[in-house]
Amino acid sequence: MSDQEALAEPRRYIVRTYGCQMNEHDSERISGLLEADGLVRAESESDADVVVLNTCCIRENADNKLYGNLGHLKTWKSKKDGRQIVVSGCLAQKDQDLVAQRAGHVDVVMGTHNVHRAAELLAESSSVDGPLTEILEAAVVDDHAMFPSALPARRETSYNSWVTIQIGCDNNCAFCIVPAVRGDEMSRPYDDIVAEVRELAADGVTEVTLLGQNVNSYGRDLQLASRQAGDATARLRPLFADLLRDVGGVEGIRRVRFTSPHPKDMRPETFAAMAETPAVCEHLHYPLQAGSDRVLALMHRGYTASRYLDKLAEARRIVTDLAVSTDIIVGFPGETDDDFDRTLEVAAAAEYDYAYTFIFSPREGTEAAAMEAHFVDPAVVAERFEKLRVVVERSAMRKHEDRVGRTEEVLVEGPSKKDPTVISGRTRQNKLVHFSSPTPMRVGSYATVEVTRAAPHHLFGEFIEQLSEPTHRVRIPVASL
Ligand code: SF4
Repeated sequence: MSDQEALAEPRRYIVRTYGCQMNEHDSERISGLLEADGLVRAESESDADVVVLNTCCIRENADNKLYGNLGHLKTWKSKKDGRQIVVSGCLAQKDQDLVAQRAGHVDVVMGTHNVHRAAELLAESSSVDGPLTEILEAAVVDDHAMFPSALPARRETSYNSWVTIQIGCDNNCAFCIVPAVRGDEMSRPYDDIVAEVRELAADGVTEVTLLGQNVNSYGRDLQLASRQAGDATARLRPLFADLLRDVGGVEGIRRVRFTSPHPKDMRPETFAAMAETPAVCEHLHYPLQAGSDRVLALMHRGYTASRYLDKLAEARRIVTDLAVSTDIIVGFPGETDDDFDRTLEVAAAAEYDYAYTFIFSPREGTEAAAMEAHFVDPAVVAERFEKLRVVVERSAMRKHEDRVGRTEEVLVEGPSKKDPTVISGRTRQNKLVHFSSPTPMRVGSYATVEVTRAAPHHLFGEFIEQLSEPTHRVRIPVASL
């Protein structure tokens, strides 16, 4: 290759993402911005000129892992001129100048509200000595930059997409760092969301996931702002339910999902919209966190166990064949044996399809992190965690066994990771199904599959037929609200 050809080679980037769906979506936006600026994706770090670490501070030891990765990247950077390192995301937002102090070889440190500046900051950093740090404390309100969905994106798949409907969170759960790093709750304008979904559908996307920290309080701030501005016509209806209906009504959209709702803000209107909108999937992620009212109060969750279970029963009454998943924390500071027994009871009563269970670990800057005197003995926590695992796996297995013999609509995700001769896909209830097919199947296509066998975390099935139209789902008017 001549020098000139080498100069013409586009620069290559790679993004490493840690944490939640919000971060995954931010990474797609960062990738989109870099590609709009002429960079192309690298296959691996050794092939890359730019490495972006999009960090998360939710998981345990996130900072140790970050600084470990940055140590390794110092060597990587020294091997080729012009290589650059970007640190973005929640840990960058939380640690701010600390990243630059501990890792002077980093080129850009940008916060959660600076995603829209990714390409510019990378370019600007070339003429700056040392790390260029830009951390906005709040989202930019003057344009669409506040919502990553309004930026170009490099989607990981062609058939489904995240759609940000809200950023930040107004709650104050004692264990959670999100409000500190993502800021106050801000809803994206309603029409922008529907317009984006229409564009995605025109682009071939058939499944969208509405994304926010507390999706079912979507629109509260918009209504408040309108009323404060003297608009007496500001709608009082629950906007999230409206949004589900409108997004679900976009031509070409076959599946609508959302994550995460907060139990305290769950309303019957949302369940009705789920039941009445054929595209909205029969799956509810419904985070419990703890089953003891005392612990729920310490966590500031805003509901009791019985209120939680009542709403869940209502959801199941209204939405036929609803699958339910949850998050549960074991060993919150001060959790007693009795408190934990309540968690086991509620988990058993809720009969989850699956659960993400976590051992409490303190996040610096949160209220719970300061409750050190009440931290639970790790050996006790480990024992409780195992007991909870048994309870949730039992109900998951039961739920899966109930599906054996049924015909499910499956969205094809591609060959199974363990066995490439087997195809994997997801049902409307978000269950992973592995099945064999007599013909090759296009990723993003739909098929019906007969479920033949159950396992705690997935199903096995037999291919029945490919689908061009959504499986028929009856629109059920919910009259009794
Ligand atoms: S609702 Fe609670 S757990 Fe969820 S993001 Fe807000 S503060 Fe964190």
